[in-house]
Amino acid sequence: MSVFTAPDFADHEQVVFASDPASGLRAIIAVHDTTRGPALGGCRMWQYPHENDAIADALRLSRGMTYKSALADLPFGGGKAVILGDPSRDKTDALWEAFGCAIESLGGAYVTAEDVGTSVADLEVVRHTTAHVAGIAEGGAGDPSPATALGVFVGIKAALRHRLGVSDVNGLRVAIQGLGHVGIGLAGLLAEAGAKLIVADIDPVRVASAVREFDARSADPANIHAEEAEVFSPCALGATLNDATIPELRAPVVAGSANNQLAEARHGDALFDRGILYAPDYAINAGGIIHVAYESTRTGRPYDRQAAFAHVGRIHDTLTEIFELSDRDRIPTSLAADRRAEARLRAA
Ligand code: NAD
Repeated sequence: MSVFTAPDFADHEQVVFASDPASGLRAIIAVHDTTRGPALGGCRMWQYPHENDAIADALRLSRGMTYKSALADLPFGGGKAVILGDPSRDKTDALWEAFGCAIESLGGAYVTAEDVGTSVADLEVVRHTTAHVAGIAEGGAGDPSPATALGVFVGIKAALRHRLGVSDVNGLRVAIQGLGHVGIGLAGLLAEAGAKLIVADIDPVRVASAVREFDARSADPANIHAEEAEVFSPCALGATLNDATIPELRAPVVAGSANNQLAEARHGDALFDRGILYAPDYAINAGGIIHVAYESTRTGRPYDRQAAFAHVGRIHDTLTEIFELSDRDRIPTSLAADRRAEARLRAA
């Protein structure tokens, strides 16, 4: 596979292939854009079927991080690292230290964080050899999910205000797909605000607990998207908005935390054509990266939860701007979000 002609290559500033035979490290660090600051993005450890899949993942995810941080108005660019390996078998201190050395060699252009297959404990070891690590600051709040859930909650409110002209969720129905770290936190915020919850998860224990705790109604995980509700909130996997599900949606608003909700970019158009207001995933789920950015050693300050959560609250206004741009230019909200992010990059 050639990097320069790969479908996901988008004028990345640097793509570094790091190897350390002694520890078995094989990693790819993709620095997409540092216009607004160092490229911040998690490190994913995964057993990729083929090296090309690892390259594609690093390229695609790093570009996504540029857009996410720009929209969230963070002083960071976008990057991502992938380590080729089995997270249940191949983790050693030597590997993490070698990975830290690779990051250090970039002189601060890339700041790593937690992602699929990596943990805060792993990052603590990475920190032996580099300071460019976010999400583990002393006094930090750890798990980013509460910040992500809060961002989705304020995002749902922005969408409802824009689409239905209502300013709170009291009495409205929200169908939540996925009751993991974010989904359950979101359910708590919505229930407290008086929303009626419809919930689905492939794990029946999580469903039972949400039904009990929030007086929610359970739905079939295969059909939660088609429930009659004011909001459909995808908080599980990606690609849930596709050719099969979009015609079946009954909610006027789609707003949830899952990454890559659109199976393909054209599904943003399909939602727009159906008159469904879609809160672009990387705008509404930025609470986690905002939280991590506030924990970055780069700020030189201890984690300030109040400031971080106030910043997360701004997701409401960011989404409102996206919705207004979508109305004004008659373009899907997914495209409006990209344009807002690109404008921020140009301005920087
Ligand atoms: P999680 O793994 O804790 O939870 C995912 C939940 O979805 C699990 O309960 C799982 O059983 C359920 N699930 C899986 N397949 C399902 C299906 N087909 N139908 C219904 N439920 C299903 O993950 P999370 O941390 O809560 O993240 C949820 C989503 O939000 C992911 O897409 C993640 O990438 C994204 N996200 C999370 C954060 C964060 O701070 N955790 C930040 C940004 C984006």
